Amino acid sequence: MARVYGAIEGGGTKFVCAIATGPEDILTRVRLDTRTPAQTIPEAIAFLRDATRGHVLAAIGVACFGPIELDPCAPDYGSVTTTVKPGWAHTPIVGPLREAFGVPVGFDTDVNGAALGEVRWGAAQGCDPAIYLTVGTGIGGGAIVNGRPLHGLMHPEIGHLPIPRITWPDGRPDDYVGACAYHGGGCFEGLASGPAIGARAGRPAESIPNDDPIWELEAGYLALGLASVVLSLSPRRIVVGGGVMHRGDVLRRTRERLRDVLAGYVGRPEVTVPNETYVVPPRFGQDAGLVGAIALAEAAEQGAR
Ligand code: ZN
Repeated sequence: MARVYGAIEGGGTKFVCAIATGPEDILTRVRLDTRTPAQTIPEAIAFLRDATRGHVLAAIGVACFGPIELDPCAPDYGSVTTTVKPGWAHTPIVGPLREAFGVPVGFDTDVNGAALGEVRWGAAQGCDPAIYLTVGTGIGGGAIVNGRPLHGLMHPEIGHLPIPRITWPDGRPDDYVGACAYHGGGCFEGLASGPAIGARAGRPAESIPNDDPIWELEAGYLALGLASVVLSLSPRRIVVGGGVMHRGDVLRRTRERLRDVLAGYVGRPEVTVPNETYVVPPRFGQDAGLVGAIALAEAAEQGAR
């Protein structure tokens, strides 16, 4: 019987569950709508139980939306904590999986997981520290430092970095109120997430033409967020996923604005000469989070040996 990993990418709108032997060998997957914990967690367990029939389940990895509790000594280790998602605050995730399967469970933020997957097998191999940033409905970022996902007081919350306001390309002030439930327009996510772009334009971000000046404004904000990360964690590579970064030439403009914001202070060719090897797309694209969950399962299995 083949040894397989269970992988769960737990998101605010969907739970993608799979079994796999590695990133290139996903055997079965399912997409579940994120409903209430009482519905979705048993659905995920039922999928894994069914899909692993005839296999040996070695470990499970969960790359989860947050904030989450990662301190193994905390009484609520393995839970979602203070989320604004209705019904999900203080929801145990690891406990029910351990109870159901009795195997090691790797647990981390979706973006720490994606960062680990990209370092282990993808676009950030050989790069340490490395950052994974996603810009879409929200903004999230994870970090690998010394080979492991960065944990501390909690975990990186790059999406909520305070970011100064900039002006539109024609010099107008950006007076948008902001999209963050906690910080309004005072943070990276509040100013630069997909909903923030859409709200300024009065239409969904996906429908805004590539030549709209809003993308230049967006690149300016993305560069400010990236510069804060470059200056605080000194990553050797930043992997950027999510829909926004790959619209038109947002990625190219962001690389150029990043060079401008850093203003020559970080005297490394990676940032002084905008190039295509420092801020890069994820190898695993839309599957970066799911592959991250596989990497967390692998790490949990190795840690349990
Ligand atoms: Zn915020």
